[in-house]
Amino acid sequence: MHSAYVGRFAPSPTGPLHFGSLLAAVASFVQARANNGRWLVRIEDIDPPREVPGAARAQLATLRHFGLIPDRPPSLQSRAAGRHRTAIAGLLQHGLAFHCACSRADLEADGRYPGTCRNGLPAGRAARAIRLRVPAAPVEFTDRLFGPQRYALAEQCGDFVIRRADGCIAYQLAVVIDDLAAGVSEVVRGVDLLDSTPRQIAVCRALGRRPPAWLHLPLAVDRHGRKLSKSAADDPVIRLSAPRTLARVLQALGHRPPAGMRSLASLLNWAVAVWNVEQIPREPFEVG
Ligand code: GLU
Repeated sequence: MHSAYVGRFAPSPTGPLHFGSLLAAVASFVQARANNGRWLVRIEDIDPPREVPGAARAQLATLRHFGLIPDRPPSLQSRAAGRHRTAIAGLLQHGLAFHCACSRADLEADGRYPGTCRNGLPAGRAARAIRLRVPAAPVEFTDRLFGPQRYALAEQCGDFVIRRADGCIAYQLAVVIDDLAAGVSEVVRGVDLLDSTPRQIAVCRALGRRPPAWLHLPLAVDRHGRKLSKSAADDPVIRLSAPRTLARVLQALGHRPPAGMRSLASLLNWAVAVWNVEQIPREPFEVG
């Protein structure tokens, strides 16, 4: 029997999975299993300009290679376009989102949106993007690992884009709608997305829904302290065998497998049995 816990891994198909993405995949999988819950995979393929042909297929093959098998067939975010459009129409109708004529050049130097079209398009300007009206009060939440967080969205980014000028649905909106639709109860992902969380909570609240719980994971960095990118060639995911890579991932998550444990299944089962979120370090993990 499954509990009500639903976790997920949601890669964008912009390149092969690297050590950092595998860290998120493994942590979300083990956390779901340790909570007796379900684990889902969603390919976030709604940004054609950034998509790399064949990447989604390769990512799914890598997950299978590591024994990370979701409880339902992987979903494609692009198939949910109708759901995204309906949500945007609802937000517009309730005045929670608005059309905006501004281009990048109209934003403030720090990228903050000054609110130009909040109360209607300026005369003679055509609508380009759609923005969510951010709340005046700061957004507060507690991350399972990084603790209490507080973001004053109004000052930090202002009303943000939920449908881009090129017509694409923005990540900040689609991710929330699809997590809600799938019943995701906790989002487990890299800390590089921690500052997206308040925007996603604002989307959730605008939709009248309760946000999931949040667990952000330490960043995997290279020798020079740089975040790994999907294009990095020298990555243990490519270099080492799958069990050795998995053992390193678990170690990066603060769980050192017993010496000599060499099969993927035994490593995953062991991790589920001993899993303790408190043991995950917050510091970046250097991948050597
Ligand atoms: N699709 C996003 C990425 O690959 C991650 C989405 C998420 O985990 O919320 O960076």
